[in-house]
Amino acid sequence: MSLAEQWRSGRPKVAGLHLDSAACSRQSLAVIDATAQHARHEAEVGGYVAAEAAAPVLDAGRAAVAALTGLPSDHVVFTTGANHALDLLLSSWPGQRTLACLPGEFGPNLAIMAANGFAVRALPADDAGRLDVDAAARQLAADPPAVVHLTALASHRGLAQPSAALADVCRDLGVALVVDAAQGLGHLDCAVGAAAVYGTSRKWLAGPRGVGALAIHPDLAQRLRPRLPPPEWGVPLTVTQRLEHGETNLAARVGFSLALGEHLAAGPQLVRDRLAQVGRWTREALADVAGWRVVEPLDEPTAITTLAPTDGADPQKVRAWLIAQRGIVTTYADWQRAPFELTTPVLRVSPHVDAALDELAQFAEALAAATAAA
Ligand SMILES: *Cc1c(COP(=O)(O)O)cnc(C)c1O
Repeated sequence: MSLAEQWRSGRPKVAGLHLDSAACSRQSLAVIDATAQHARHEAEVGGYVAAEAAAPVLDAGRAAVAALTGLPSDHVVFTTGANHALDLLLSSWPGQRTLACLPGEFGPNLAIMAANGFAVRALPADDAGRLDVDAAARQLAADPPAVVHLTALASHRGLAQPSAALADVCRDLGVALVVDAAQGLGHLDCAVGAAAVYGTSRKWLAGPRGVGALAIHPDLAQRLRPRLPPPEWGVPLTVTQRLEHGETNLAARVGFSLALGEHLAAGPQLVRDRLAQVGRWTREALADVAGWRVVEPLDEPTAITTLAPTDGADPQKVRAWLIAQRGIVTTYADWQRAPFELTTPVLRVSPHVDAALDELAQFAEALAAATAAA
């Protein structure tokens, strides 16, 4: 069975067209069952007994995150998502709070950096928003910040950033590189040698909502000072135990762990290659739809395609029309996603590995109809 067939046959039948994996992919039947099964087990034996029984599954989930990030599994912390992971990390940051990131940084990340008292400066990028590695190396060497933060793949634009090259630069300079892999995990190679990598379950890994992970290099973990419990209380907990402290939806972690296992079983490199191919097909199919411009280069190795209106179309209305009239899910992304880069709202199209050429042609036709009607 091909990867596409395997993906599709393992899921509930889709109502319409699902072109929205960058927002939330479709979970597999096995993941849905594992999540429900854990809730059932909690009712049968008690929530805390069920938690002990689920420990090996969660350990396997951590090991899978470790495999995808190149960081050790005993330094993987489950979170409620990517934003929570960044907040946990930055609120535990020792010493100076200065940070460099791209001008196209994700708006909610900028809010978390500001809320944690980080002074943010911009890394050099080209006109498309791609990091200029050589210029960044010079800038970082001249005046190194405490943290370099890179969103490996953005929410508002499907550019694969040169994460591995920046990781090399940061390692040479002894600066911690933190990678937002919310769109990167399950999509791009995120084992690049960063000090920390974090991501989310529901996007390309197709796990449940409300869960994510933070993986930290031991050298960095050792320096962190998690807020809770207050460090001066001297409670004998490791940094990872402190970071993971608190009530959680264990069923969601179980489902996420299973989704990670499915991804590893499918073959991360195979999935990456297929997503790159699907992205190319999408951009080819949409290249000539009147009133829109495809933002990404045709061959960008990602399955995120964004469309900028060239003739006054309103992406928000077009999205709503596509759902109401055709059962097609896409995303409307406004400037708040990347407040220092996005000048006009865009329509985002993000199919997964099961996308077929005829479906993308069908979408191009529907987009033309939506543009005329909305
Ligand atoms: C979705 C997204 C996030 C936030 O993920 P949550 O799990 O909702 O917190 C962070 N960064 C990027 C680039 C995203 O696309």
